[in-house]
Amino acid sequence: MLVDSHCHLDHLDLSDYHNSLNDLLQAARKRGVSHFLSVGVDLDSSRKLIELATDYPDVNVSVGVHPLQKLRPTIPEISELLELGRHQSVVAIGETGLDNYYDSESIAWQKESFIRHLKAASELAKPVIVHTREAREETLSILRTHANKESSGVLHCFTETWEMARDAMELNFYLSFSGIITFRNASALREVVKKVPLERMLVETDAPWLAPVPHRGKQNEPQFVVEVAKAVAEIKGISYEEVAEVTTQNFQTLFFPSR
Ligand SMILES: [Zn+2]
Repeated sequence: MLVDSHCHLDHLDLSDYHNSLNDLLQAARKRGVSHFLSVGVDLDSSRKLIELATDYPDVNVSVGVHPLQKLRPTIPEISELLELGRHQSVVAIGETGLDNYYDSESIAWQKESFIRHLKAASELAKPVIVHTREAREETLSILRTHANKESSGVLHCFTETWEMARDAMELNFYLSFSGIITFRNASALREVVKKVPLERMLVETDAPWLAPVPHRGKQNEPQFVVEVAKAVAEIKGISYEEVAEVTTQNFQTLFFPSR
């Protein structure tokens, strides 16, 4: 059993699957992927996903506004995040966070949005899904001030340093790794994977983006989380089964703490 802890089901091209999301998910289920966390990138996408999840008992949702928004919409009100966040299928708030790599100009917008997401997550006692790129100190400092240590969250698609991973774990956060760990030029990141204990780790695809080797250049799909978990197993020198079991357990602990 394995879970895709971060994908964008409303952004997938379904033409290879008779335009059926269920068919695409079925391909993943056949490979042992039993659960999908679909992450909203703006309020419309979040609403769409809440609607979609009503048809799929194995899909849960996170609601939020991605830090990289070309048009920089109005920063969501905390009340809007709370309202969406209360839906039954919603297990997290985000993705939110800071990105200096692709868009340093909007960093003030990003920070205010990030803080509002953290406040909403804290009030709902739900974990937060954080995107962070080349904003290590700023991300950590906002998390230290505003994150709820108990409901915590995850730094998703992690590509930063071991020091940042360590500091995030001190805040009770998890680290989620994507297909990037299979990329040839990612040897520094593989060293981070080696050091992060499996007990603090999640795996994800971030589909439709970032397809892992050997699918690079194609659309990424939730089924390829299998390739990510295999890569973690190889890097750590442990079995695929152990990676699947422990990361699935971590997913349950983080997103379904009462179960
Ligand atoms: Zn994402």
